[in-house]
Amino acid sequence: MRLTLVDREDPVLRQVARPVPDAGSKRVRDLARALDELRIESGGMGLAAPQAGISERIIIVEVPEDDWVGYPEVPAFPATVLLNPEIVWESEEFVKLPEACLSLPGLMGNVIRPSAITVQALDLEGDRVTIHADRWLARVLQHEIDHLDGVLYVDRVEDPHELWYVERVDVNDPVWSRNPQVLRLREELRRQQPAEPRMA
Ligand SMILES: [Zn+2]
Repeated sequence: MRLTLVDREDPVLRQVARPVPDAGSKRVRDLARALDELRIESGGMGLAAPQAGISERIIIVEVPEDDWVGYPEVPAFPATVLLNPEIVWESEEFVKLPEACLSLPGLMGNVIRPSAITVQALDLEGDRVTIHADRWLARVLQHEIDHLDGVLYVDRVEDPHELWYVERVDVNDPVWSRNPQVLRLREELRRQQPAEPRMA
């Protein structure tokens, strides 16, 4: 099985993915292996099945041992597949960090999220696992679990000035269609533009 990333306009990215019914099966193990291959070749710390066009609640996360923005010492977390993950606890402390997404190449944006979470899920054997995560692992998990609900990080960027393209922010880009702040900014800019001269 060989998977590829879907285009960012693909409606699968905006769907609520269905729960995995057969955790522990060979089908799911094969699918997870193919997803992990895609994640590695794409250079992502995380990947969610919808990004490969598969509307199922499967994510893979890995935090490499590395220095990373905002967190000078990032504890490594080995590549782990989680089925039907659920956030069962969130810290009251929030942290703002830049995020990017394999499904939205060329974009980055600052997102405020809880700094620590607890996730319950099933592993590839179908056994229940609980993960208490903070720092980058918490960030990657929240980003990937969002994908399972059709949410992209750009929906959560609170200030349009805290999002950027590698080149230039284009507020008319349809990727922002669900970000209320960007929609307001778009409307403001539209109002500021002089009306087109009419042909008499
Ligand atoms: Zn993503």
